[in-house]
Amino acid sequence: MGLSEEKLVAFFAEFGEKKFRAIQVMKWIHQLGVTDFDEMTNLSKGLREKLKQVAEVRAPELMQRLDSADGTAKFLFRVGGGNAIETVYIPDGDRGTLCVSSQVGCSLDCSFCATGKQGFNRDLDAFEIIGQVWHAAKSFGQLDTANVADRKVTNVVMMGMGEPLLNFENVVDSMNLMMHDNAYGLSKRRVTLSTSGVVPALDKLADYTDVSLAISLHASNDEIRNTLVPINRKYPIAVLLDSAQRYIERMPDVRRKITIEYTLIDKVNDRPEHARELIELLKDVPVKINLIPFNPFNLSNYKRVSEGALRRFQKMLIDAGFTTTVRTTRGDDIDAACGQLAGQVQDRTRRSQRYKLDAEALIASSSDVIPVKLVQD
Ligand code: SAH
Ligand code: SF4
Repeated sequence: MGLSEEKLVAFFAEFGEKKFRAIQVMKWIHQLGVTDFDEMTNLSKGLREKLKQVAEVRAPELMQRLDSADGTAKFLFRVGGGNAIETVYIPDGDRGTLCVSSQVGCSLDCSFCATGKQGFNRDLDAFEIIGQVWHAAKSFGQLDTANVADRKVTNVVMMGMGEPLLNFENVVDSMNLMMHDNAYGLSKRRVTLSTSGVVPALDKLADYTDVSLAISLHASNDEIRNTLVPINRKYPIAVLLDSAQRYIERMPDVRRKITIEYTLIDKVNDRPEHARELIELLKDVPVKINLIPFNPFNLSNYKRVSEGALRRFQKMLIDAGFTTTVRTTRGDDIDAACGQLAGQVQDRTRRSQRYKLDAEALIASSSDVIPVKLVQD
């Protein structure tokens, strides 16, 4: 299920089969929801038999689906070893956004994020990432219809559990399938990768994909950001924004903007001086800003921004000329709001030890897609 077009074509070439066979199978899986080779009726019987012997089309195992009073749905997937990951579907008018996970837990340990507090277990395979989209599309009946207007999943954001750029190849393959005409066919404007700032990987992203980019900034200066997003100590704000800007500049579409995510936490980063500093910081960067009221969870002492501070902050940014939206809290009755996704993670980092990025290894590696390696500090 997770094979990119190139990998699927290479797989079929091993049997002496042509490219169009790979495309046929890709359509069966991602557009028609079929995983049983026997049902792929436009393949010859001989090929179907051969495929059954050497391959399987496997989706992640759906454990549970929870539906919120506001229409938000949360899918829980069993991913082995006592671990589970979460995917959230957020309907909003004629848009349906799926928030997809990339890792079991997260090693980056941002102080305001429930996923970070759970520790890290492993990267998800590509089939487990695209499989979240497959399951959601299938459960909404989307795979039974060829009519684009009937699509329920219209947008995907890599904003679930995990840091997508630390699982580079699997995330890139999955996102390219989301946009592939023979798979989910979503436009690049509707598929967004969110990162807390793994700069060496971001520097390579444009070589492999052209998805929309969101940066989890959350602070107007390095001092505050160091306390919220620890990876900032390695790749500070200026370095991160520079990398993000280079990514966007490589996109042919000149109107594209970087989305800046800014989680507002009471008295931490929600003051007028922070808004002023943010305006100065972003004045020459092509951005739109998405303010996220902090969602509390039980391992955190931070408090949600007050309504007054939120609106004051937003107004200052709008008055300064920035497109600034507020992300409404959805699905918090089923713990599906931003930062509440914790799934079930058997932590392998022993939390007291920090993992650090071996950025040098990545930079030294040629142009191959090499996932950023995690090494123990
Ligand atoms: N690892 C990636 C993507 C997953 S997090 C990243 O950090 O960008 C998705 C978004 O939710 C990020 O912007 C993250 O900072 C934000 N978030 C995390 N915890 C939150 C919380 N408790 N309340 C509100 N937003 C939160
Ligand atoms: Fe990881 Fe993103 Fe949570 Fe930070 S905010 S711990 S990078 S999932």
